[in-house]
Amino acid sequence: MTSCIFCQIIEGAVPSAKIYEDEHVYAFMDIMPVTKGHVLLIPKKHVENIYDFTEEDAAQFFAAAPKIANVLKEHFRPAGMNLLQNNGGFAGQSVFHFHLHFIPRYDQTDGFQPGWKTKQEAFTPDVIAKLADVIREKLEN
Ligand code: AMP
Ligand code: ZN
Repeated sequence: MTSCIFCQIIEGAVPSAKIYEDEHVYAFMDIMPVTKGHVLLIPKKHVENIYDFTEEDAAQFFAAAPKIANVLKEHFRPAGMNLLQNNGGFAGQSVFHFHLHFIPRYDQTDGFQPGWKTKQEAFTPDVIAKLADVIREKLEN
């Protein structure tokens, strides 16, 4: 049997509060929710992180995302929603089967505290443009 907890959930070997399933994806309630309606969407194919997706796998996976988001929006009427996805332990990934978090947001005290501090002073428009040049070149080749 696979050692991946999310593969075990897909197989039904580990229980989950499933909300949706199709040929390519499986969605269920996060067991340690941050806010009301915190859901995880996972590909049925074991893909560890964003780097491992083929374009086709990615298209099939993300096709389900708006459907999940809209149902959560209609049902819970949140003030907003964060989609979060961690790649690698350093970035906070704790389960190494790709998963997209849907975190409905209600107010400033709802328990989820995203945020980052801009380094805008270091990354001047000139520096940003040079970074863009390098990345663009890589993407074109
Ligand atoms: P991450 O830190 O982005 O890798 O998130 C992993 C998420 O998986 C966490 O929010 C956990 O609460 C959730 N999780 C881990 N095991 C289970 C499980 N058996 N059922 C539902 N959610 C799980
Ligand atoms: Zn897996």
